[in-house]
Amino acid sequence: MLGLIGEISSLLKNQRFLGPKKCKAFLRVSRFCSTLCGATTIESGIMKVIGVTGGKGGTGKSTVACALAVELGRRGRKVLLCDMDADCPNDHLLLGIERKRRCMVYQRIAKWDFDKCDNCGKCALVCRNNAIVCVGGNAPMFMAKQCNGCGACVIECPRKAISWDKKVVGAVYNGRGFGVDLLSCELEINEPVSEIVVAKACDIVSEDKGKYDYVIVDTAAGTHCDVIAALGVCDAALCITEPTPLGAHDLELICRLLSRMDVGFEVVVNRYEKGRDEIADKVVSMYGKDVFAKVPYSKKIMMDYSNGVPVKHKSIDKIADWMEGSL
Ligand code: SF4
Ligand code: SF4
Repeated sequence: MLGLIGEISSLLKNQRFLGPKKCKAFLRVSRFCSTLCGATTIESGIMKVIGVTGGKGGTGKSTVACALAVELGRRGRKVLLCDMDADCPNDHLLLGIERKRRCMVYQRIAKWDFDKCDNCGKCALVCRNNAIVCVGGNAPMFMAKQCNGCGACVIECPRKAISWDKKVVGAVYNGRGFGVDLLSCELEINEPVSEIVVAKACDIVSEDKGKYDYVIVDTAAGTHCDVIAALGVCDAALCITEPTPLGAHDLELICRLLSRMDVGFEVVVNRYEKGRDEIADKVVSMYGKDVFAKVPYSKKIMMDYSNGVPVKHKSIDKIADWMEGSL
């Protein structure tokens, strides 16, 4: 028993992250052994797919994700950078990469056979998205943009007059630059459900990750469905924050989400300035951690960002070293 604990504890001491797919029982054993052996983190082996996230928008997630991907590429690693911010993808802009469409993303929507329809209006009554309007016993009018494919109308129709069609809601793109492969997803204008597009990109990551040494997943801001879907394919995550009260508030939200998802994480402060340490420190200390890396607020970094040059800084090198297991 002691031998087993010793073996697990040595694994724990050498590895920082705990992947989301580890079973609960192993987690409990790991935590127990971690406590026994004084390991500060309970982390598991394969840090291959890493999320770059952070509750707040504008903290520099894409800047760090691009810089990290390029740094790993410089080291000769095969890297896939995935821009999972379907509402506002910008990694291709930061890196000056021209994207080529890989596939369209579709969502199912309702379709009518008016020969079977008797205009009873029941479908309109169950559509919570108000995509169907039946007025004065006339045939249903359908607003495809409003339909989220829930299927309530298909189930409710007594005459089996509704079946399925599909509409384009987005696309997934490929590109390459700075020695890095890019996967980028984008929602169609005026479509409301970006999670479908992110889910498609996640499927591609799951299929393709075997071809790469590392996959960097740049998520959207916030803690909503898109972010959860993107983090669901990650072995671990970096939370990028800024030293402001707003940054600290949203950092706490994303740390809480990652803890609930059992995704191991570290915190990186972007636009760091001396004298403002306590803002992020207060949050990360709640999770028994220290700030892992600090990207300074510097004119050089801002100029590189504006000119589409990936940030090169020792803080990014430190993250890459850590991913490579050399820290
Ligand atoms: S529920 Fe079916 S039959 Fe009734 S209006 Fe809708 S499509 Fe027509
Ligand atoms: S599938 Fe759902 S959202 Fe679409 S029309 Fe039918 S009830 Fe409305």
